Amino acid sequence: MVDERRPSRFGVPRDSLVSGRPLALGDTDPWSGGSIGSDATCILAPNPGPMTLDGTNTWILGPVDSADVIVVDPGPDDDVHLQRILRHLDQRGARVFATLLTHGHSDHSAAARNWHELTGAPVLALDPLHQFGAEGLGAGDVISVGEVSVRVVATPGHSADSMSFLMNNKILTGDTVLGRGTTVVAWPDGNLQSYLESLSVLTELIDSSGATTLLPGHGPALDEPANVIAAYTAHRHDRLDQVRRAVAAGAQTATEVVAMVYTDIPEAVRPAAELSAQAQLDFLRSR
Ligand SMILES: [Zn+2]
Repeated sequence: MVDERRPSRFGVPRDSLVSGRPLALGDTDPWSGGSIGSDATCILAPNPGPMTLDGTNTWILGPVDSADVIVVDPGPDDDVHLQRILRHLDQRGARVFATLLTHGHSDHSAAARNWHELTGAPVLALDPLHQFGAEGLGAGDVISVGEVSVRVVATPGHSADSMSFLMNNKILTGDTVLGRGTTVVAWPDGNLQSYLESLSVLTELIDSSGATTLLPGHGPALDEPANVIAAYTAHRHDRLDQVRRAVAAGAQTATEVVAMVYTDIPEAVRPAAELSAQAQLDFLRSR
């Protein structure tokens, strides 16, 4: 049994729903999941919202005819969603070898315990709070079964426990890179310095692996991954310049920064914008 009240080592609130919000980056068409190439399928969770875009992407990794698959992010604790994943696996005649979590935010992790019980397969995560039936997961780990092989890369920043996974020519980015818009640096657990470093790590990984596709935690798969990361990096530096100007003009708190910089956001994402603004203020004050 896991104590529900046990605090996360990474300080991620259990009920946090912090991902990102749409900006003019990437595909604006609706996304409903489905197959990407011959070795990845997304089952979209029914939790759309201002912070989760179309919903959480649960990824099934492995060739269609493989007996064992690796699942990434079982998503919110929604029985309809979990049963849909099980039906999909049943139709393929596949069983779950292991489930990996990109990070501990609840829209990715809340189903972990029930999913572990339904599948009998271990749930591997960096944060012990979300580990079920196995020790955990860390940078450099390789999880392999049959023709599926996943390499773990630490990409903290969105949250302290954020990780990305390299499989063949694809990188699963969780909430570090979204299929649309930009992500939130979820202060205080998130950290902008770490986030910028993680974007550099992803750039190097794309270069060294020849990856051609990003599979995000929300929104559509993205091609031209190097361009996507470059746009994310440019956006972060643009925002930092705006925050610098806001501070020079007298803004002192995250609320004041949001009022001056994030002028076009819906009310529903204001709390998340304030977290990102606080992360940016911390970043600027630490320099
Ligand atoms: Zn998240």
